[in-house]
Amino acid sequence: MTKSADLFEQAKQHIPGGVNSPVRAFNGVGGTPVFFEKADGAIAYDVDGKAYIDYVGSWGPMILGHNNPAVKEAVIKAAENGLSFGAPTAIEVTMAEKITEFLPSIEKVRMVNSGTEATMSAIRLARGYTGKNKLLKFEGCYHGHADSLLVKAGSGLLTMGVPSSPGIPADVAAHTITAEFNNLDSVKALFEQYPDDVACIIVEPVAGNMNCIPPVPGFLEGLRALCDEYNAVLIFDEVMTGFRVHKGSAQGLYNVTPDLTTLGKVIGGGMPVGAFGGKKEIMAHLAPEGPVYQAGTLSGNPVAMAAGLAALEQLGADGFHEQLTAQTTYLLDGVKAQAEKHGIPVATAQAGGMFGIFFTDAEQVNTFAQVCECDGERFKKFFHLCLERGVYLAPSAFEAGFVSIKHDRAMLDKTIEVIGEAFAEL
Ligand code: PMP
Repeated sequence: MTKSADLFEQAKQHIPGGVNSPVRAFNGVGGTPVFFEKADGAIAYDVDGKAYIDYVGSWGPMILGHNNPAVKEAVIKAAENGLSFGAPTAIEVTMAEKITEFLPSIEKVRMVNSGTEATMSAIRLARGYTGKNKLLKFEGCYHGHADSLLVKAGSGLLTMGVPSSPGIPADVAAHTITAEFNNLDSVKALFEQYPDDVACIIVEPVAGNMNCIPPVPGFLEGLRALCDEYNAVLIFDEVMTGFRVHKGSAQGLYNVTPDLTTLGKVIGGGMPVGAFGGKKEIMAHLAPEGPVYQAGTLSGNPVAMAAGLAALEQLGADGFHEQLTAQTTYLLDGVKAQAEKHGIPVATAQAGGMFGIFFTDAEQVNTFAQVCECDGERFKKFFHLCLERGVYLAPSAFEAGFVSIKHDRAMLDKTIEVIGEAFAEL
């Protein structure tokens, strides 16, 4: 028995399903989850001492690779001054300045502790600001686990086959209306049905919780126009895409300006951090400036801010995102070449440093329905063939993959070789 298997047995006795977040349990692929001990750069080591080239990167945050020296040093230094004060600190101000500098659509920003908190709070603010009730989201998009957002959601819910969670009162779910990602007509129809009651649209500008689906040309622009027409707030949930797909995030990559943006993952450098921000006029409705309540004992935590700032400073370097994007493209070109060589029908998708691999005959995957038509059984086999050979991919066909700046040419070549071997065995 491996140490991972042993620990998983122990974990199941005290933790529901043995994990603190569902996808980690390998529900989507079967088998025993890998317990990790340490990581450096693009390589993660499990408790049995096996090394993996890591394409999960803590589900996005580790864009600089694991154990980044500047982030580690900043955390140690901040910790020496005290872990938390529950009072204002200078570093929160620097963080807010940095975020608003990177993302001009964010005029004011509030720090929180997770992506879930960020989206939950942004929606409350949008409702408080507009005085309307309905929230429009897309099937297969995941925005964290707040009640109103667990309706036709993606990520772990799709892995488990329960896109809408029990435990949410029907009255609450009734205010969440869902459209099809990359289908503007489905959004228009909902606005026509509820012309006066849609408070906001929340969207992952690149869907990353139903594999990886970039927006088709005109989709994000169309959402912007509809929100303007119906006085609804446009929220880009950039918890995953923020600083991942472009220096200016998805809004910079696709040149569409939301009213509010939610952030997480990368901005914490690996610490538990989220943020939401946007137009001054809307943010002014937030307590204590306005009446919409939102708070947090540990929000803006100095150690977390230190980690995030140290990460953001490195991401601002000239050419960082161009290099990350090129590394990701190189990987996917290699995957496509191997797929052709072995006669496996595969489509790929990319936005900056995030990617998707689909087992499908389709040239490109643009919709949730198309994702659901992909060959799930083939993915499971593929995942385990890669895992055995030391390539750690997301343990679900409904998650995006992440490349870090530390995935050098040799590691990418090794990955392509492993994927080729896996294709040969499929
Ligand atoms: N929004 C998006 C787009 C996400 O991908 C996630 C998490 N994967 C969240 C929100 C929720 O973030 P957290 O897990 O930090 O609560």
